[in-house]
Amino acid sequence: MKDCEPNQARIKVEIATSIDYGNYKAHKAIAVQINNFIKLNWSKISKEFKLPDLLTVKIRPIKGSFVGWARQSAGGKQYSIEIDPRRSTPKQILDTLFHELTHIDQYVSGRLKHVNGARIWLGSLVPEVKKYAVHSSQKNLDKYRNQPWEAEARRVGGEKSEEYMAVFNQFAGVKGLRL
Ligand SMILES: [Zn+2]
Repeated sequence: MKDCEPNQARIKVEIATSIDYGNYKAHKAIAVQINNFIKLNWSKISKEFKLPDLLTVKIRPIKGSFVGWARQSAGGKQYSIEIDPRRSTPKQILDTLFHELTHIDQYVSGRLKHVNGARIWLGSLVPEVKKYAVHSSQKNLDKYRNQPWEAEARRVGGEKSEEYMAVFNQFAGVKGLRL
């Protein structure tokens, strides 16, 4: 057997039906832009993060005040991220994409784990600030944002979105084409 590079993480991008044909059609252009950007840059992006064999990206309106999610199934076998395309700037969308990819990296590398409702970060148990608590006060929101895995995702999201912004802009305005 010849040596080969480790298998590249595969990517699957899904755009919600409501964006394609329904109430959120106004966001179709940006959703297609995200799709095309991810697919055509995946070989580069996927080398920057520790990722599972298959990652699903869902572009869909998210209820409530969160604009993205990163999920790991209970068995740790399935990974997905969700991105809400209803943002005021393309930069915010890119920021969210790289923020959530950072969370997937944290899960896949084992730096962040969920155990019985608690979080283990770099091997230490850290009390988790629940998502629902962030709405109750600014203090809780700050606490949520300052959890180490969130601080890291925010930093990486900010840096990578800066880095890729010009490339992302090249994919703007291609209305129908979906790669
Ligand atoms: Zn986060």
